Amino acid sequence: MADSLQRFLFEGTDIRGEIVHLENSYQEVLAPRQDPPAVAALLGEFLAATSLLGSTLKFEGRLALQAQGNGEIPLMLAETTHDRAIRGIVRGGEHARGQDFASLVGQGTLAITLEPLKGERYQGIVALEGNSLAGCLDSYFAQSAQLPTRLWLAADGRTATGVLLQALPAQVVTDADTRAAQWQHLTTLAATLTPGELLSLPTGELLYRLFHEETVRLLEEEPVRFRCSCSQERTARALLHLGEDEVREILAEQGMVEMRCEFCQHLYRFSPPEIDALFRPGENPRLH
Ligand SMILES: [Zn+2]
Repeated sequence: MADSLQRFLFEGTDIRGEIVHLENSYQEVLAPRQDPPAVAALLGEFLAATSLLGSTLKFEGRLALQAQGNGEIPLMLAETTHDRAIRGIVRGGEHARGQDFASLVGQGTLAITLEPLKGERYQGIVALEGNSLAGCLDSYFAQSAQLPTRLWLAADGRTATGVLLQALPAQVVTDADTRAAQWQHLTTLAATLTPGELLSLPTGELLYRLFHEETVRLLEEEPVRFRCSCSQERTARALLHLGEDEVREILAEQGMVEMRCEFCQHLYRFSPPEIDALFRPGENPRLH
């Protein structure tokens, strides 16, 4: 089963759904890392959730999901682009001993950031509480003025999957009681999924297991992949940001400047002439 995202609609309702299934892309995110199983699993849930939330981006750009708290992991971050390229990082993951969400992330915030290439950035924030990422996201949607949305997530270090249901504005069904009953019915069905089923069943079987009594219209399956957006140019921009004094100091100590991408571990090197050029006014109009 390739890494993919499947969107679907329930006929006769204004409710839509998505299922995401990640294996290779998840492995590529984990590969350069030495995270214990509980951390690798949580990162998988972040990647699955990010793919689900980003699947309907209406702009070119990216969506990021970021937890920052006082637990064992100060930061966990997953991102997707509008064309479904995902990546993610954890800080402090390799030494974490916690087995559950609360001890890993602690108290803090979960931020959902929408970052269009052109236009304004939008950020929604919810407190990290409860004992799952899906729970935090459910409270985010319950508290905000977004469309009613529920998520179910599972990951085990090999596979990361998730299901999302969302109630769209009234179009097919206008009666409020009927709308509420349909939402209740479909979310109750989805809530019967066990993590084991989420991880082991192919998308088609999973949909059948949950919704065989509903009329479900499947949209085209969309591929998801790992891709890092780092580059020599972006790294150069980060060095400019660091400032000339600091960069010169590193150069003096080490003979060259090296920066490793936190997401994919690619190593970028800058020689003394490249550093000179970087800080020479007028030399890099695109960077400055
Ligand atoms: Zn990278």
